[in-house]
Amino acid sequence: EPVIALREARKTYSSGSVTFEALKGIDLTIGVGEYVAIMGPSGSGKSTLMNVLGCLDTLTTGEYRLAGADVGELDEIELAGIRNREIGFVFQQFHLLPSLAAWRNVELPLLYRGTPRDERRELAAKALERVGLRDRLANRPGELSGGQQQRVAVARALVGEPALILADEPTGNLDSVSTEDVLSLFDELHEQGRTVVLITHELEVAQRARRIVFVRDGEIAADTPSAEAVAS
Ligand code: ADP
Ligand code: ADP
Repeated sequence: EPVIALREARKTYSSGSVTFEALKGIDLTIGVGEYVAIMGPSGSGKSTLMNVLGCLDTLTTGEYRLAGADVGELDEIELAGIRNREIGFVFQQFHLLPSLAAWRNVELPLLYRGTPRDERRELAAKALERVGLRDRLANRPGELSGGQQQRVAVARALVGEPALILADEPTGNLDSVSTEDVLSLFDELHEQGRTVVLITHELEVAQRARRIVFVRDGEIAADTPSAEAVAS
């Protein structure tokens, strides 16, 4: 069973009598362990697709199955639950809570699930160790570099063992050294068998994935192994 299965996915935005079709019938299947980049210019529908894949927004028509669940059938509470269980989010702006130590940020998804305190602390420490920040458990985000903050965010995304890591422009706010740092971390996650979907408008970043899905005007313009993708 795939992690992601979109069938004839359409998203229409309307305001008054004006409607705009941001996703025009997308079919997309992503299997367990795949590392996929979704690429496209500004306005192509990437954010819309990211919001749909992340269960932050629902389709107008069509079907989205995430880890076997029919997302269109879920109510708001169930959507929050599936987001928490099945998806680890990584954002361009990190979205860490500045007043909390690194490990407190990392344990947040577990807090929502009601995991006991000792177990949360242990799992958060393990996740931070996995991203190479074992010695930064107690530091607040403001005491860390941008690259380190994004690694904390990756640890938070991993801590609950979700089916999918969904990263939206994860290197958009980083210098080239930290970018490499975070992208090698994604390489490792892929090697460990995790399913990673990375949304980006940068071909260099997309080429680090194994497969690139090019979105254009709300449609999939190409879907290729990344080795075959060339700048156009
Ligand atoms: P991006 O940086 O990904 O291109 P956009 O500038 O397209 O982001 O959109 C930023 C936010 O504004 C998104 O949440 C998007 O849904 C919303 N948005 C984009 N275009 C419109 C629009 N024409 N009307 C209303 N909201 C919009
Ligand atoms: P991208 O992330 O690739 O820049 P988006 O998904 O943000 O693309 O937007 C795709 C298209 O849908 C754009 O033309 C945008 O203006 C439009 N759009 C996005 N959000 C809204 C919205 N809330 N209302 C109306 N139009 C929107």
